[in-house]
Amino acid sequence: MNVILLGPPGAGKGTQSQLIAQKHTIPQLSTGDMLRAAVSAGTPVGLKAKKIMADGGLVPDDVVVGIISERIAEPDCVRGFILDGFPRTLPQASSLDRLLTSKGLKLDRVIELKVDDMALADRVEKRARETLAAGGTVRPDDNADALKTRLMAYYRETSPLIGYYYAHGLLKSVDGMAPIADVTRQIDEILA
Ligand code: ADP
Repeated sequence: MNVILLGPPGAGKGTQSQLIAQKHTIPQLSTGDMLRAAVSAGTPVGLKAKKIMADGGLVPDDVVVGIISERIAEPDCVRGFILDGFPRTLPQASSLDRLLTSKGLKLDRVIELKVDDMALADRVEKRARETLAAGGTVRPDDNADALKTRLMAYYRETSPLIGYYYAHGLLKSVDGMAPIADVTRQIDEILA
């Protein structure tokens, strides 16, 4: 099963994709997590991505497409995967199509998490507060300025993917404002 979770920053993609990954025993491929790991490790990709990410911008398409194509080739992806945070632009979506076709694979579903804009800032703020309270380190892009840039990037670059996947007959939307367990239930029904 090859699935994409689509939605603005703070929509709950990470939370839901982890739950789906556990349930279906397929890996969650989060480009955000992979890039953060590259930044921590100080790899060439990490050095390139660090400031762009902290500012809330998008890392160049060729960089993330490279990361994903390597990751999809790993043995744990043979039964499928959940893409969380990728693709984020139309060129990334076309690259993914080509990549999957070349491997004889296809997408099964694209699930859009629909949320109110006004809720997103609150959720990101809450995540930062809870991380701090738990003694963790707040993501450098979980602040008001970077969030504004992330939202703009979402509306400008990523939201056109909703039309793209709708046109391909792959899109299903769920109410991302519902409690976490309800959102999971909606997604389960779609993937059943
Ligand atoms: P969120 O969805 O909460 O904004 P992510 O963890 O998915 O957070 O991504 C964090 C940052 O990583 C993005 O703001 C962007 O800078 C970078 N990033 C992640 N995925 C991509 C991608 N597919 N294309 C370009 N940049 C990406």
